[in-house]
Amino acid sequence: TPNVIWTRSDAYHNSFLIPHDPVLEAVLKNSKDQGVPDIALSHAQAKFLNLILKTLGAKKYLEVGTLGGYSAIWAARALPQDGQVLTLEIDPHHAKVAQENFKLAGLENKIQLILGPAAESLAKIQIQPEEPFDLAFIDADKANNLLYFTEAKRLVRPGGVIIVDNVVWNGNVADPEFSDATVEGIRQLLHALKEDKEVEATTVGTAGEKGYDGFIYAIRK
Ligand code: SAM
Repeated sequence: TPNVIWTRSDAYHNSFLIPHDPVLEAVLKNSKDQGVPDIALSHAQAKFLNLILKTLGAKKYLEVGTLGGYSAIWAARALPQDGQVLTLEIDPHHAKVAQENFKLAGLENKIQLILGPAAESLAKIQIQPEEPFDLAFIDADKANNLLYFTEAKRLVRPGGVIIVDNVVWNGNVADPEFSDATVEGIRQLLHALKEDKEVEATTVGTAGEKGYDGFIYAIRK
């Protein structure tokens, strides 16, 4: 199957570019041992997020969808000592495991997790008098993508970045035969982006150990 090829391909590239990391291995083991689903970013994608944050000189990172905290940890590592990760999660078990993982990574002081539906948590976040976010990463229930994107635009600084994961979905999003809440949530976001004068955006398709997918990369004007 294609996944065998692309899993091998990721492993090959990672063997040159992503050194073994006992902390991240412990984090992933803890998540697996506690039954957290294996739907985090791939190693290569998480490092890419880390590199984008460094490119931006980011201090503040907002995340919708924590899971076991894998992407939040890669993000926190890109931020300066006084940087801040704010990550939102609805599932109490995922949140509990993520908090353990932040301690395992020694990053519990840099990462704040808000437990609850992200729509409610986002509505409570005010950027004034605080600084806006440099990057928002949207990776939760896809049906709410447009709502999360709209909130991210409010919270990210001009020139900042909004990334939305899993927008290609094995090609299903572009398949007229296909319809479910996930796919419709992604289509709704795409329709809104076509008219949106506040961002510039593109979709980048990806093939890797997580299969065929892609992400939207948007810049807040
Ligand atoms: N960003 C994580 C990573 O790469 O390590 C993976 C996130 S996982 C794909 C999606 C997460 O979003 C799950 O933990 C799920 O419980 C959470 N989620 C789903 N609906 C949510 C909602 N309405 N509010 C907040 N989190 C939600």
